[in-house]
Amino acid sequence: GSTLKIENLYVEIEGTEIIKGFSLEINSGEIHAIMGPNGTGKSTLASAIMGHPKYEITAGTVHLDGEDVLEMEVDERARAGMFLAMQYPSEISGVTNADFMRSAINAGREEGDEISLMKFIRKMESQMDTLEMDPAFSQRYLNEGFSGGEKKRNEILQLMMMEPKIAILDEVDSGLDIDALKVVSNGINDLRGENFGCLIITHYQRLLDYITPDHVHVMMQGRIVKSGDAQLAQRLENEGYDWIKEELGIED
Ligand code: ADP
Ligand code: MG
Ligand code: MG
Repeated sequence: GSTLKIENLYVEIEGTEIIKGFSLEINSGEIHAIMGPNGTGKSTLASAIMGHPKYEITAGTVHLDGEDVLEMEVDERARAGMFLAMQYPSEISGVTNADFMRSAINAGREEGDEISLMKFIRKMESQMDTLEMDPAFSQRYLNEGFSGGEKKRNEILQLMMMEPKIAILDEVDSGLDIDALKVVSNGINDLRGENFGCLIITHYQRLLDYITPDHVHVMMQGRIVKSGDAQLAQRLENEGYDWIKEELGIED
């Protein structure tokens, strides 16, 4: 299996410290969820791990199976087996969805080991079926004119096609109606298994009604302040975050 190990990470945006001592270990086979109030640095964490240039990592380490992720270029991170939804371009005119995904898959493979066109098409058709996507989608230009829900489904399609070791999904549930939410959850649940580890970042508990996480972490003020199992997410849904603030003596 694989392990993504984040240790004592500190991240600044334009001189302001947002992530303040974040540590988490994700093993393949595990689904972790991070929940937390708005503005606590969840998206900053995801962007920093992805290698967004705006985010300056001032301390701490990130390792994938012992390899220093922070030393890797963004595309190397993907080749090493990490999937970060946001690393993919929002729109590319003239490149079909299918072509984009096939070259993304082959970029992660050795020369001579590229996925065959037949195999690729069969796999893509079957995954699109799982996600209840219109087959015509594969020939549309990447993200061009996609609705919010279509973009999200397409993100999950990319995830299913790439079969990464570790995925970080930031708010894949935002803006989805309940049917799309179920479909997206089915896709993620399909990937579940001993070769797949996942960090789901979400503001709302409802996604976790369909994907039961093994571990739930609460993020406040740039670090994890509490961890538990799926019941923790349920309690947050029912009671909000105030009880944790009280427990920890955090003021906002
Ligand atoms: P969350 O995802 O938990 O809602 P974010 O990571 O988006 O939180 O934001 C954390 C803090 O960092 C917020 O105070 C936000 O205003 C600030 N922030 C996020 N992105 C930027 C940016 N690009 N430039 C300046 N400040 C930012
Ligand atoms: Mg937010
Ligand atoms: Mg966010």
